[in-house]
Amino acid sequence: MSENNLNDESFRDTIATIDAKGKRAFIHPKKPVGRFYDRRKIVSYLLLLFLFSAPFIKINGNQFLMFNVLERRFNIFSFPFWPQDFHLFVISMIIGVVGLALFTVAFGRIFCGWFCPQTIFMEMVFRRIEFWIDGDRAAQIRLAKQEWDAEKIRKRVTKWIVFFIVSFIIANVFLAYLISSDSLIEFIKEGPKEHMSTFIALLIFSCVFYFIYAWFREQVCIIACPYGRMQGVLLDNKSINVAYDHVRGEGESGRGKLIKGEDRTAVGKGDCIDCKVCVHVCPTGIDIRNGTQLECVNCTACIDECDTIMEKVGLPKGLIRYASEDEIVKKEKFKLTLRMKGYIAVLSILIGVFIGMLFLRTDVEATILHVPGQIFQREGNMIVNIYNFNVVNKTEQEFDDVTFKLIQPKGEIKLVGNTKVIVPRQGLTKGTFFVKIPENELNGDKIELKIEVYNKDKKIESATTNFNGPRNFN
Ligand code: SF4
Ligand code: SF4
Repeated sequence: MSENNLNDESFRDTIATIDAKGKRAFIHPKKPVGRFYDRRKIVSYLLLLFLFSAPFIKINGNQFLMFNVLERRFNIFSFPFWPQDFHLFVISMIIGVVGLALFTVAFGRIFCGWFCPQTIFMEMVFRRIEFWIDGDRAAQIRLAKQEWDAEKIRKRVTKWIVFFIVSFIIANVFLAYLISSDSLIEFIKEGPKEHMSTFIALLIFSCVFYFIYAWFREQVCIIACPYGRMQGVLLDNKSINVAYDHVRGEGESGRGKLIKGEDRTAVGKGDCIDCKVCVHVCPTGIDIRNGTQLECVNCTACIDECDTIMEKVGLPKGLIRYASEDEIVKKEKFKLTLRMKGYIAVLSILIGVFIGMLFLRTDVEATILHVPGQIFQREGNMIVNIYNFNVVNKTEQEFDDVTFKLIQPKGEIKLVGNTKVIVPRQGLTKGTFFVKIPENELNGDKIELKIEVYNKDKKIESATTNFNGPRNFN
């Protein structure tokens, strides 16, 4: 960067979204046009299609993606996960975090611009609705300053209604992920009166989405998003980012307006013609020419706009482009750094552990625990303990005749209620049974029981639990 612009640090004194009086300043970015924007539109619409359809796709009767926190049922790519699989969930989260860190160290904040739901909804759904109703940047600024006349009221009311309808649709899809699409469809058919609490939750979600996209907007990325705030520790001079080529843009004597007939090279001017289009198109209101900033979500809009300007003035494109600081200053091409190799090693180990655990994951899980607060009882020469059992069936077949066999020591198991135990496919069954052991079989006041679980004649699981007896055992 040229000395004169390099020393200008005044941009650090203000932020674009707060005015001189400390009040919120709304950004009215120019509508982006260009090859990156077109590609991002395609990626965004494919991701939106996936997001909106995933809860309604079923494989083997299982919802493709479901995160039913209340009932503790989770489906990932149609594979059901139970609270018993929580360790897998934790490892997959750690893999996600390490993967994202690696991706950020190498490619900066590309995730934010291309894949983040907040950016996709804001820039590709709500912002496009806004362009459609209010017009481009100049029209939006004019409308914001305009008195509340018929035109402004009509445009504002239309926008607020459309925004709320879209927010309501998003909230419904969000609910389908949480309570399952089957439940959502059933609730819709039965009407809000029958499910008032769910309907209120739906309205709250809708209002939250409306608030974010109508008012809070880029503040999510600047203030609320923890990933955005981690950029400072993750990025270095070798990370690829949306970057302004300050070496080329500033030249020897800085950027400068285009003057007809002027030989810019002769006067030492850089290629930046200071048109500020890159600033006007930025959805977070920053000037990328000040260097990598926390507010930049790598949306690529400034790349497209600057390329258009460069084409118009007959200079090479790419004054703003994906590049690392070292590429701009030292002309170094991208290569794996020691830090990236470290992340790759950790990530590979974690993925290996995860795959191993997936293979070791059992199809059936049985938990047998003492009924809380119950001690042993006597029935003649028998000592009796009472247990609660849980059998989780992660398979696609129903277990229609589940029995329990006491393997060690000698004794018997008697189900409470004497009913047949059935565990549905992808389901869970709870129950209670007594374990009776002859007193002379006990060699301590606390012994371990080995119990096997059968479906008809097939052993499906084994479990251990403790059995309490009297202290004065034989
Ligand atoms: S769009 Fe390009 S030429 Fe115009 S101000 Fe930005 S960097 Fe300079
Ligand atoms: S600086 Fe460029 S890439 Fe970053 S948010 Fe603004 S327009 Fe998008």
